[in-house]
Order: sequence, then structure tokens, then C-alpha cells
Amino acid sequence: MEIFEVPVQGFCGGVRRAVDLARKTVRENPDRKVTVLGSLVHNAYVNDELRAMGVEIVEAKGKTRLDLLDDVDDGILIFTAHGVSDKVREKAKAKGLECIDASCPFVLSTQSLIKKKRAEGYTIFYIGKKGHPEAEGARESEENFFLIEKKEDLPEGAFEKIFVTNQTTMSVLDLEDLFDEIRARYPHAEFCSEICTATRLRQQAVMDLQDKSIDLLIVIGDPQSNNTRKLSLTGKKAGIERILQIESSDDLRKEDFENIQKVAVTSGASTPDFLLKDVIARLHSF
Ligand code: SF4
Repeated sequence: MEIFEVPVQGFCGGVRRAVDLARKTVRENPDRKVTVLGSLVHNAYVNDELRAMGVEIVEAKGKTRLDLLDDVDDGILIFTAHGVSDKVREKAKAKGLECIDASCPFVLSTQSLIKKKRAEGYTIFYIGKKGHPEAEGARESEENFFLIEKKEDLPEGAFEKIFVTNQTTMSVLDLEDLFDEIRARYPHAEFCSEICTATRLRQQAVMDLQDKSIDLLIVIGDPQSNNTRKLSLTGKKAGIERILQIESSDDLRKEDFENIQKVAVTSGASTPDFLLKDVIARLHSF
């Protein structure tokens, strides 16, 4: 069996920065309580490492970052790589918390762009994932803001000025389809694709597998990770018949590799390197 490691994969700059910032905060404040508002990045192994260092992670399914703040009353609070809304920042400040911002600069840049366009009177069509913290941070308020996951979510009506943008970790191909649909319905809409460079490069690297006769693509990452799921979808679009999304080498079974000649391996932007190394070693053992 031939094993091909997709050349661009694993931690992106934004995730690395967030993880380094969290580790540094704990190191420099050994006697203080440190809390992360949600998952620092969407990977259970990263969160487990932080918990082992004494960090508390407040999380509850269905709760927004704003809701989660009700459970934090003291110490240092870290905002996650997905960014937070101004409302969260203001509430944390009012509670007297010392805040460390691990928001990815790409996310902050999209938030600034949305604020600017809103101030100019645009209605925002934001293509993103419902319930995702990045979409929550971008929204700020329901007013003149529509969160769109698929064509069916597009609002009906006349909007004088429309600005269309997106969550940074969406699928490049799906986003183009949605942009085309909006362009057809609202020819006056303005567009700005905000897919970050890391997401774009990782998806392109998977698209480039098209010519390599890959029998199976393994995508390593947390089920919560949007960019990881989009890598699996990109693999399908690249025509790879079998895609296996796993969290770690423990999910691999030897019998899945009968008749596989060529396997490619990639990992999401929040997947630590050691998980990739484990998977490669396990594949070699097969
Ligand atoms: S995937 Fe993109 S937006 Fe998300 S943390 Fe990485 S660089 Fe930032």
C-alpha cells in the first residue's frame, strides 16, 4: 500500500497562535484561575492538554459564548480562535475579568469588514454554519444580518444594499455555488470571500489529489471542526470514492485497507501533528 501525506495540512497559524497563547497564560499565572470560553480550537486532544495544565473550559451544547459567560466570575478569561462579539467583550469587562484574546487575525478582519459594511447601511448575508462560534461572533445582532448555510436559507425580499461574506473555514467550491445563486437573485449584491489562506490551501491540496488515483482519503480531525469536515467534502468533490474521517489512529481497522493500493492522509487546521504521525505509523504497520 502506498501512503501519500497531503503536503499542506495540520495546525494553521491561527490555531498555533491560540494554543501558544493559552500555554503562555497558564505558565505566567500559576496561582490564578484560567478559563477558556468554549473550546480553544475544535480539537478534543488540545482541550485535554489544556485541562491537564489546570485550565477550565466552559462549554455546554446549545449555549452561546454570551450565555457561557454567566458561569465565569473570576480570574483570567481566554477568548477562543473563533472570535467573540463585542457584546461578549463588554460583558466580560463588566464582570471584571482579565481577558486574553486568542481570536485568529483572519476572523477579526472579517468581523471588522462586517461592522464597516453595516455602518454603511448594508444588509449582511453571512455564509456560515448555524451554532458555530465564529458565526456568533460575526453576527453581533439579528438586525440586517442573515446567516445562510444553504440556498434555502436565502431571505426573500427587496434589500437596497447587500453585502455577502462568509465564515473563514467554508468550502471554496460550495461558497462559489452560493455566491452564484445570490448573484442571480440579487445582481446588485457586493461580495467578499473571506475564506482564510490556511483553509484555501488545505482544500486546494486535497483537490490536487484528483490526478493521483487515490483509493482512500483519510481526514484526521475532530467532528466539531468545520474546516476538517470541509476537507472531507472537498475529497468527495475531487472524485475520491472512499473518505474516512477519523479522530485518531484508534479509529483505523486493518480490514478497511484490503484492496487499497493508494491512501492519502490529511488533517484539519486544528489537528495536532502527533495525531498525524500516529496514523502514518499505524498505516505502515498494516
Ligand atoms: S482556519 Fe483560518 S481562520 Fe481558522 S484559525 Fe486557522 S487561519 Fe484562522
